[in-house]
Amino acid sequence: MRRKLVIGNWKMNGNRAGNTALLSGIVAGLNDAVGKPCADCAVCVPAPYLAQCQAELEGTPVAWGAQDLSVHAAGAYTGEVSAQMLVDFGSTYVLCGHSERRAYHAESSELVAQKTVAALAAGLTPVVCVGETLAQREAGQTEAVICGQLQAVLDVLTVEQVAKLVLAYEPVWAIGTGKTATPEIAQAAHAFLRARLAQKDAAVAQGMQILYGGSMKPENAKELMAQPDIDGGLIGGAALKATDFLGIIQAV
Ligand code: PEP
Repeated sequence: MRRKLVIGNWKMNGNRAGNTALLSGIVAGLNDAVGKPCADCAVCVPAPYLAQCQAELEGTPVAWGAQDLSVHAAGAYTGEVSAQMLVDFGSTYVLCGHSERRAYHAESSELVAQKTVAALAAGLTPVVCVGETLAQREAGQTEAVICGQLQAVLDVLTVEQVAKLVLAYEPVWAIGTGKTATPEIAQAAHAFLRARLAQKDAAVAQGMQILYGGSMKPENAKELMAQPDIDGGLIGGAALKATDFLGIIQAV
């Protein structure tokens, strides 16, 4: 039985005072919930706020991490942040290949694969994001696109390394648009990805947490997460309000 996982992607949002209010709201909500939450949860924050997460979340059920990392370990790479730096501030997760990085920073699937390798080497859990644009979906290319994005990562990893990944299916047309994939559309993509993973290793495919991302909110989370191959959510907008983020966790 795969455990559900809910990760908030704050994108480039936040400030010190607002972060404290948001994080303490999430922690208080989880502490108030009856029994142990049935999902693991984490927030992926802008790198400057990792220290704040470490100070305010250590010892709570909320893990934290970053939204990107460098492929390089150290050196003359102005502006880059290494995997080890993320680890230094207690990070557990790092997003790799979010569609906004692919679109605005020209990240290729090969670069995403290298970032995944760098994250694993430092002991981080990479959350590898794949997803098609609206034009690609309308052209019937969804499976080819997400398969190519996944394959680039699988090509450079051993089975043992693949077992340490989290995968996120995020249709680009559903991110930040308010247009959520129907549970059927999302389930079909998740089942397809799991079948591709099974070609690498059946047991690893069965154990892999595959998150859905794209305008998930408390109102639609329950139905999405009830699908057999949807193991949680990667949440953008709704992760910025404690009640919404908690509502999604409670929908599990
Ligand atoms: C995301 O940024 O990964 C995301 C899913 O955003 P939103 O929930 O706002 O669509």
